Amino acid sequence: MDSQGGDLAEILSKSIGVPIARAKSLLESKSTRVMRYRKIRYITLRRDLAGHYEGTTILIDEDTGEYRIVEGYPHIRRILLLSKAVPQHFIDEVIVEEKMDGHNVRVVLFKDMILALTRGGYVCPYTTHKVNHKYRKQIIRLLDDLGHDSVIAGEVVGMENPYTRYHYPEAPQWDYFIFDIFKEGSPIPVAARRDLIDKHGLRNVPVHGRYRKEDWQSILEVARSLEDLGREGIILKDPLYRVDPLKYTTSYINVRDIREGMTYPFDEGHTFIFPRVLRQMFKAIEEGWSEDELKRQAALLGEAILIPAVEGIRRFIIEGKLAEEFTLTFHDLDALEEFLSYSASLGVPLTIISMNRGDGIIKVRVQKPKRTPDYYKRILRTGFSPLD
Ligand code: ATP
Ligand code: MG
Repeated sequence: MDSQGGDLAEILSKSIGVPIARAKSLLESKSTRVMRYRKIRYITLRRDLAGHYEGTTILIDEDTGEYRIVEGYPHIRRILLLSKAVPQHFIDEVIVEEKMDGHNVRVVLFKDMILALTRGGYVCPYTTHKVNHKYRKQIIRLLDDLGHDSVIAGEVVGMENPYTRYHYPEAPQWDYFIFDIFKEGSPIPVAARRDLIDKHGLRNVPVHGRYRKEDWQSILEVARSLEDLGREGIILKDPLYRVDPLKYTTSYINVRDIREGMTYPFDEGHTFIFPRVLRQMFKAIEEGWSEDELKRQAALLGEAILIPAVEGIRRFIIEGKLAEEFTLTFHDLDALEEFLSYSASLGVPLTIISMNRGDGIIKVRVQKPKRTPDYYKRILRTGFSPLD
């Protein structure tokens, strides 16, 4: 243990560039976490550290001691007013990509393994299993072409994942849409990246045009058209990534997130509300909402806050439980077991409700616990507020 701890400290020290003593104390603190995936040990950074983003992972081959650092995915700043932010931030032109609503996954090759890393820097066994099943060959060919140390970043969308589930007609179950590729740490230009992804039979996030930076009105129009389709929003990118990307979301999604979050107010709901109200406040200004539109939006917002919350309490009273349920699909049982123990190790014990097999697919319905019902139980028993 001691010698392993020593090795880890040395690897951490070298890979993020801190003195060995600091690496040792980081390994003992909550700023890092050491995990294992099969024969790989890895260290995740749980906050921005020494110039590296939160979610950075250091992968270590247990047999040989070889290691590799995979940088965390950077935070993308949010725009409240397109009219101000776009002309000021960009240089000349802006590519408008769709912001897909799923979960962020970086894919890397390490010791002949294609690994899928979550935003937090964990090797997710489920996502790794799905990516390998669907795209292993294509990803290897792309990395052969571009360099094995490249990092692919994209969004997993569809209904069959443990994190974020929305229906996309182009990906009803599970798929991976790439939005960035980092070569030697830097993103490759948008056009080259899109060509490379096409060439290797992988999927790109949709693109909605290229505009002069002064033309924020056209960009707003794009966002509005996505609004009508119930899609999340846009990511604005400099064609050469000379400046950082920015994000902007639709009203539809701002309100829908609140509605979904408020089924579990003590989990997601309460932190969701203020940032999304703020987004709506400035949309009202930039889009020049009429009095009627303002009233309509206010009603939607109020309903999104209260209705799912009250329905949730009623359901808890009647059924005695309130939990999230979803379906995952596996192509072998080992992957299922691997994923369940991974979840449990992160403090999220999943319960299997049902399991069906057919056509080489194992379809598993699982239930994920929430904290909100514990609060409801206490409130319903004592009558007191947990807040004040
Ligand atoms: P943060 O605010 O730190 O970026 P977050 O999870 O709150 O984290 P989001 O509001 O979901 O972030 O927006 C950023 C995320 O959008 C990215 O991390 C990525 O997963 C996702 N995304 C979807 N489509 C794209 C795209 N075309 N380009 C870049 N990111 C995209
Ligand atoms: Mg997102």
